[in-house]
Amino acid sequence: MTAKLDPSVRDLLLPDARNWLDRPPLSPFIDGAFRAARSEHRLPVVDPGSGVTMTEYVTASSEDVADAVRAARAAFDDGRWSELDPEAREARLRYLAGLLDRDSEAVAQLESLDTGKPLAEARLDIAEAVAVLRYYAGWATKIEGAVIPAPRRLLATGTREALGVCAAITPWNYPLPILMYKLAPALAFGNTFVAKPSEQAPLSTVYFAQLCAEAGIPDGVVNVLPGGGATGATLTSAPGIDKIAFTGSTRTGQAVMRAAADTLTKVTLELGGKSPQLVFADADWDAAIKGVMDGIWTNAGQICVAGSRLIIDRGIHDEFVTELVRRTRQLTIGHGLAPGTHMGPLVSAAQRGRVNRMVAHAVAEGAEAHDGPTPPEGNGFFTAPAVLTNVAPGTQIERDEVFGPVLTVVPFDTEDDAVRLANNSCYGLAAGVWSTANATVHRVARRLRAGIVWANSYGIFHPSLPFGGVKSSGFGRELGFAGVEHYTELKTTVIDLGPGPAN
Ligand code: NDP
Repeated sequence: MTAKLDPSVRDLLLPDARNWLDRPPLSPFIDGAFRAARSEHRLPVVDPGSGVTMTEYVTASSEDVADAVRAARAAFDDGRWSELDPEAREARLRYLAGLLDRDSEAVAQLESLDTGKPLAEARLDIAEAVAVLRYYAGWATKIEGAVIPAPRRLLATGTREALGVCAAITPWNYPLPILMYKLAPALAFGNTFVAKPSEQAPLSTVYFAQLCAEAGIPDGVVNVLPGGGATGATLTSAPGIDKIAFTGSTRTGQAVMRAAADTLTKVTLELGGKSPQLVFADADWDAAIKGVMDGIWTNAGQICVAGSRLIIDRGIHDEFVTELVRRTRQLTIGHGLAPGTHMGPLVSAAQRGRVNRMVAHAVAEGAEAHDGPTPPEGNGFFTAPAVLTNVAPGTQIERDEVFGPVLTVVPFDTEDDAVRLANNSCYGLAAGVWSTANATVHRVARRLRAGIVWANSYGIFHPSLPFGGVKSSGFGRELGFAGVEHYTELKTTVIDLGPGPAN
């Protein structure tokens, strides 16, 4: 089968990426092999930059979901992975990371094609995925237990044990890094895994399944189920899963949590956001403008930590916005694989429609739109980045997650005012503070209700930095030691040593 690709796009692809698209439709990867289609249901893989359906994939049926969980259960129970020496698990995961690194350019091209993001951003995603895998590979041999203080005649120890079968449901905006936040710690500590990527962007996750086989990860340890929301819902209510890690919208997160309640399965939820960027009058302007732009224009605003609310000192509001709009107009919007693209399309026509409707509604409610550069013509799902001023607090655009390149601007008069505006959201994922006064930064950061606060910077991720939200942005942390805590369980072992010698 030859994937339908614009010749100009096909020419840009490395042979590995082209061959991957030209192979038979993607199908579920279960118990170490791609499985012949059981479901007749196919979903298109669309290039958002051209609107062309490149190829299709077979969605996992409910039997596939049950088989994947069964395969993961069997692989966990017979110890083919969990009972390996930690050194062996570490070595295997490092080897797997090396394979991903080896293929990183091809995988970045696939990710760019599938999501629409500029290739330069996709390259960073794959590098992050490799780094997270290596980080947790290292943890496999570093994890320690504890001797627990107890009455003298008892010897009590706490050891960290694997949970069992872990499932992950991931969104389309950062498919591989978000998968790795979940898979890397799960595998490092001996768990087995079932992943359901988003129907909008399954390519890199399915490619990764192939690398798991090549790396000699034992059959059944990693299973991948391409499919839509129904596949995700079947997976979250499947018996035999010990933990579900979900990243996606708040509404779907609530559905996942409800389903998990029936089986009493542990969940972590990384959900949406409406993150504020607070700019004080004494901020380093150049850094702040760059930080605000990166915070909202990266991945065309389709990022959970998008700094989508600029809250700015009234004294610098007009001048700052003028400069921000001027620089935004210099951005090049284009196909993700085209050299020189700063901002790609949105992931789907539906997402673009939703974003454009929200902007039109905001303008109808009185906001003033300062448009960015004109998007290219054609059938790609492009939209212009928009800066919105005169945004009234409490309006839809100020309240709801847009998940697109839209920045609202609201002025503040005092520090208290800034903090109140920033915290006035049902979300609490991230926040940015820009000020050259250390005291301001510390005081404000302490008062912001967010899982992560970046000061004089924005959007810094690292495998060792815990990440997650509060309020409607979810609960639980990923990365860093939090990954150890969420993918292991403490087991207490108590030995009665007897009364001992009388003296
Ligand atoms: P969705 O919630 O629509 O989808 C997330 C995943 O859940 C997808 O794989 C989806 O499948 C699946 N799904 C859909 N319905 C169900 C269901 N009933 N049960 C189980 N799984 C289901 O989110 P998006 O993909 O649209 O991603 C955007 C959202 O993700 C935004 O709100 C964003 O803020 C959030 N996000 C949060 C991050 C964080 O770390 N906090 C990071 C990145 C994104 P399918 O796509 O195939 O329908």
